[in-house]
Formats: sequence, structure tokens, C-alpha cells
Amino acid sequence: MISSFTWGTVNGAPGPLGRPGCSDCELAHDMNNSANCEQDQRSEPAPASPRRFIVEGTPEADAVDQDFALVMNASLAKNEYPAAELEAARSAQHTALSSQFCTRDVWEKYKDVVSSGPGRWTLARAINTGTRYPASIVGCHAGDGASYDDFKDFFHPVIRAYHKGFDMETAKHVSDMDPAKIGTELTESAKSKIVSTRIRVARNLALFPLNPGGSAETRRAVCDLMERVFATIDPQSHLAGDMFRHTSMSAEQRQRLIDDHLLFRGGDKMQAASGHHEHWPEGRGVFLNRARTFVTWLNEGDHLRIISMEPGSDVSGVFARLAEGVRLIEDGVRRETGADAAFMTHPVLGSLACCPSNIGTGLRGSVHMLLPRLLSSSGFDAIDHMCRERQCQARGSSGERSAVADRLDVSNWRRIGRPEYELVTDMIQCVNFLAEQEDKLSEPKN
Ligand code: ADP
Ligand code: MG
Repeated sequence: MISSFTWGTVNGAPGPLGRPGCSDCELAHDMNNSANCEQDQRSEPAPASPRRFIVEGTPEADAVDQDFALVMNASLAKNEYPAAELEAARSAQHTALSSQFCTRDVWEKYKDVVSSGPGRWTLARAINTGTRYPASIVGCHAGDGASYDDFKDFFHPVIRAYHKGFDMETAKHVSDMDPAKIGTELTESAKSKIVSTRIRVARNLALFPLNPGGSAETRRAVCDLMERVFATIDPQSHLAGDMFRHTSMSAEQRQRLIDDHLLFRGGDKMQAASGHHEHWPEGRGVFLNRARTFVTWLNEGDHLRIISMEPGSDVSGVFARLAEGVRLIEDGVRRETGADAAFMTHPVLGSLACCPSNIGTGLRGSVHMLLPRLLSSSGFDAIDHMCRERQCQARGSSGERSAVADRLDVSNWRRIGRPEYELVTDMIQCVNFLAEQEDKLSEPKN
């Protein structure tokens, strides 16, 4: 095991962590919030949301931080088909799935539909990311659990295309988090190259809209509920710890947690275009157990990212702790709310998430590993390709869309149609293969 990995602690005096320059979006959000409240009282779907959006290319849009604020494509803001943008995207080398599948027919079918869930979601909101950022891979988001079926002819083809091989007519989400069923072990060579192991699942609470369709209030309510759930953990338990909110963390505390890989970064422009980061930093936070090995992110995008992590390569131990933590949270939410279902699920699609890429198990099991020779001889893209051939993917040292400083993040790529233990097995097999490639390069040439 490599011992350079450090876990963070939250030190220093708490202080406000505000972000200036968002008053325009607050105005728009207030309008949306009141629309949400009205809708909750009705049984019939309401007409399209009256929300006033900040529009791309306007002085108002230039005045906000677009890495956080929701800024709409000009056509979508008027609920008009963004023909020019989507046609250009379709003829480009890479096309976001949202642009591929939001054809004019699909648009006409759904343009005046408002989802039947509490997010009051529309197709215009759903495709804003892919329309504004054609380089995105998926490019669309859901605003509540109902969106996936209310906009079926749009979301289902996207899901089929992203989760290759998952045929919704015949397949079904399955779940099994038994670590004893992991089908293989890390080789000694792989273990020697691993810095740390982390397995997470994305979960959303059944009682709330997904965050792109939520408000500052719903985000705060998620945090408040989870604070009560975490407070019920037996203080003697290894999972017990403390919850920290962004609104009472200093910038230094937050940065330290990010640097220690314990906290999300925010500031992703593609996620911002879905409404992921609206009202930042309201309702954001993190729960950390005392050992910093059981972590829950609150309202990064999904309501919860439940994470088990530790230095070293004990994949099975990390997986077992994750399964225990997920059960604990699920039971706690049921107890606190009195609801039968804690998490938002779908009979075929499994756990639902804001982004179609994370539905199913919501599981990403990764190791951070050092492969210096392979990296310098083949480069990141070739390593990612080797991973993809093995149902896995490579990321940089600080997560998605980050550079490789030293360690590579290698994780399962599939999320749905296979039980969790099989996805972890994919990751182990890929890591063993990469370690072998690295060793071949280390061998002296005769
Ligand atoms: P997620 O899929 O959970 O959103 P990201 O790619 O956004 O993951 O990364 C989130 C954080 O988790 C980053 O700081 C990343 O470096 C960290 N991380 C991912 N895998 C590991 C690991 N095996 N060990 C330590 N930190 C990790
Ligand atoms: Mg992430």
C-alpha cells in the first residue's frame, strides 16, 4: 500500500461561504418556487412554468457566474425548438445524446407537457445542457422521478443509447451488494499500485423533486431531513460522525475537504446548465464519519452520494461498509418520514438520478492507482480505451474532467442491468489488467 494518501479534517472557525453576483437568479428562483407551491395543491398538471429564465447572450447572463447559475438557450427559454443548434450538433463529429434524440417530432409531442411530479419538468429544461454545450455526452437531465416516463419517447432512447445493451423491453434493474459475491481478487501487483479505494452510490429521496426541478427550500429540506437521520446513528457505531453545511463552512475548510477527495467541487458549467448548482451554497453539505471512511454528499446534484472510501486496496471491506451505510440511511429516512420508500426508484430503471447516466445501481467503484510508465508510454486516452474495452473508464486525479496529476481513477463504467458486486468485479479485473501492462513496461528489455 502507498501511504501518501491523507484524509482531511474540518478545522478552523466556521464562517459564511457566500457567492456574490447571484441576485438575478434568486429573483427567477423565487418565481419558480411559488409556481412549485401552487402546483402541489393541484391534481391536474399546470400549464408550462411561468418561470423567467436568464437567457444566454444577454447582459444578465454575462453578469452571473455561468459555472453555477442556470442560463437557458435563447430558443428554449421561449419554449421553441432550437433547430439551428440541434441540426449543427447532429452533423458534428460528436453529438450529445440529447441532441440526437430530441427530434422535431419528439419536441412537438412534448413541448407543452409538464411532468406529473413535483419538479414541473419540461423538455426545454431537460435538454438545455446538451443544447448549450454540444460537447456533453448525455446532455439531458430529469427534474423529478416522473420525468423519465412522462417524456418516455425522449428519455428511453437516451437511456438505451447510453447504457449500451440495456434493453428496457426485456431487461430490468437488479441489485445485490453482497461483498462475498465479488468474483475475483486484486493481484499483488495491482495492490502495490493502488493508493485508495472508493465506492459510491447516487441516491435521491422519494419525497422531493430531483434537484434540477427543486428550489432552495427543497434543497434545504433534504439537508434538514438528513441531519436528523445522521443524528440517530449510534454514537458508538463506526459510521457515526458529523454533518457540515456549506453555509457554515469557511472557504478554506471547503477547499481542504475537496483537496482530500472528500467533497464535491461544484462549478461545472454543464451541470449548471441543468440547474444542478442553483442556489449554491444553500442546502449543500457533507456528512463524514470520524474516520472519514463513510461520507455522504448532500445536494451536489443528486440529493445523496453515499460513499465508502479508505486508503489502500481493501475493495471488499469498502464495499461491505457501503452496503451497511446505504441500509442505515434507507432505514433512517423511512423512520424519519414514515414513508414506505426512502429512495426514488423505478420498477425497470432502478434508482433514479438527475442524469440518465447514473440510473440503475448508481454505483461507481474506483481505485486511485499509479501507472507512471503506462501513462507516459500510452497516454490517458489509450488507457481509457483499454478500460472501456473492459467495461470500465479512467478519470483524472481529482475526478471527472480533471487532469492526471499522479494517480489515475479507474472505475466501472456500467451502472444498470447488473448487480453491484458484478460492477465491482469489472473494476478489479480491469485494474489487474492495467497493473500487468505497467509491469511489462517495467521489465528490463534484453
Ligand atoms: P463521482 O462519480 O462520485 O461524482 P468524481 O469523478 O466527481 O466522482 O470524483 C469525486 C471525488 O472523488 C474526487 O475528488 C475524486 O478524486 C475522488 N475519488 C474518486 N475515486 C477515488 C478513490 N479511489 N480514492 C480517493 N478519492 C477518489
Ligand atoms: Mg462527480
